[in-house]
Amino acid sequence: MRKNFFGIACALVSTSIMAGSAIAQEQKFVSIGTGGVTGVYYPTGGAICRLVNRGRKEHGIRCGVESTGGSVFNINAVRGGELEFGVAQSDWQYHAYHGTSRFEEQGPFEGLRAIFAVHPEPFTVVARADAGISTFEDLKGKRVNVGNPGSGQRGTMEVLMDAMGWTMGDFALSSELQAAEQSQALCDNNIDAMVYTVGHPSGSIQEATTSCDSVLVTVQNDATAKLIADNPYYRAATIPGGMYRGNDEDVATFGVGATFVSSTDVPDDIVYEVVKAVFENIDQFRGLHPAFANLDPKEMATEGLSAPLHAGAERYFREAGLID
Ligand code: GLU
Repeated sequence: MRKNFFGIACALVSTSIMAGSAIAQEQKFVSIGTGGVTGVYYPTGGAICRLVNRGRKEHGIRCGVESTGGSVFNINAVRGGELEFGVAQSDWQYHAYHGTSRFEEQGPFEGLRAIFAVHPEPFTVVARADAGISTFEDLKGKRVNVGNPGSGQRGTMEVLMDAMGWTMGDFALSSELQAAEQSQALCDNNIDAMVYTVGHPSGSIQEATTSCDSVLVTVQNDATAKLIADNPYYRAATIPGGMYRGNDEDVATFGVGATFVSSTDVPDDIVYEVVKAVFENIDQFRGLHPAFANLDPKEMATEGLSAPLHAGAERYFREAGLID
């Protein structure tokens, strides 16, 4: 029996349940790696599992969610076979498949498979209102939470810092708190600013803007323009005004997309059933988190996916007429 990183027995372990008669139904356990509990990945995994588990009697799949360090951790756990599925930023999906950027040492993860795209994730910087920070450039000399290793924001922050010629030494302090810890650190005045690549609205940014006075910071300069122009997985993004207390104006930044990934080691039938559960109940899925309100099934099946589609997803999308 395989063990996941919490030491819990998991994953494609088959048990037999005797269902009334002597018919044994095989149960398949699958786990989704997400992110911090106040982010959007965690409820994303929860929404997917909820729809999958509703059909358990028919397909025998039991879906569970795990809070993790984020994108890079999830991709590595899928690669190592500790998790069947993960939510990951489109930039890290791209780099993992191609073996570039922070995946260069490990080399290409050729078995990585895209399943579908979920919500947009603007690169989001929040600063204490009293810190004198209104643009990314103002972070110089400040106390900044750059994100835990393994998180998508940490990777994307490093890419942006490289593009600007900055190092960690440009900050008075660079902390590595987990996503779910940083809003409190901000409001306790232990840091001046925090970085989170996350869908909106998110619990974390709500916490940061309601527990104390804080502002969303503009991230728009020559370096971001070049990143957007040079890379297919980056795009200009806007965090709409009015979503968070004290932040009534739109804020310009750049962003990625959240994607749902797996590997060639996960059987096509399982991926097919998971995709079917979500897409056949897309209205309900959209209602499970406000960041999903504008999701379009066709875009979900085709956009922001850098690795090849998983064969199980491809089968469903063809049947549903979402791809040719
Ligand atoms: N984009 C973040 C990451 O890759 C996670 C965001 C979330 O949990 O919603 O680590």
